[in-house]
Amino acid sequence: MSLPLFLIGARGCGKTTVGQALAEATGYAFVDTDRHLQQATGRTVADIVAVEGWEGFRRRESESLQTVTAKGRVIATGGGMVLATENRQFMREQGQVIYLQADAEVLASRLAAYPEQAQRPTLTGRPIADEMVEVLASRDGLYRETAHYVVNAMQPPARVVNEIMALLCLARAG
Ligand code: ADP
Ligand code: MG
Repeated sequence: MSLPLFLIGARGCGKTTVGQALAEATGYAFVDTDRHLQQATGRTVADIVAVEGWEGFRRRESESLQTVTAKGRVIATGGGMVLATENRQFMREQGQVIYLQADAEVLASRLAAYPEQAQRPTLTGRPIADEMVEVLASRDGLYRETAHYVVNAMQPPARVVNEIMALLCLARAG
């Protein structure tokens, strides 16, 4: 069957890191909606937001989600993908949705350590730790209602991958 696997969660929870490792372990292809959007437009997320606003970015993000979705793929999504009802429904219907759950302090410390990998303008312009608390307060419920499975993303990436594979009864490639 190899339904698409969608990884959701806040910026820094490990969607890209865990997604790549999960794809490698299972032989699935890996795609990242943020990266797809950047390649399709030739612009960074920050540029798109600066020119078209968050609304324009969100519209393009939904298009990216639909374009990259296919069987046999692990799809890492942008942190705000769950904000649109349309996207939540689409992911649940098309595949298996996994929420990589991590606490705000953990997310903030990861993003503080690698700010260049955040690739996104902050949503509020305030300190990252405060912002993560607020982002999770408003989105944790959406992540949970969209997910078929919630996984603890505060363990090392290899363990997160093993847990997902066990939950979904996925076999190792080769
Ligand atoms: P996302 O794609 O969800 O924004 P990333 O995969 O880019 O998150 O990870 C953000 C940062 O956190 C990276 O520096 C990555 O190496 C680190 N990281 C991701 N997952 C873990 C993990 N399970 N344990 C420790 N560090 C992690
Ligand atoms: Mg990412």
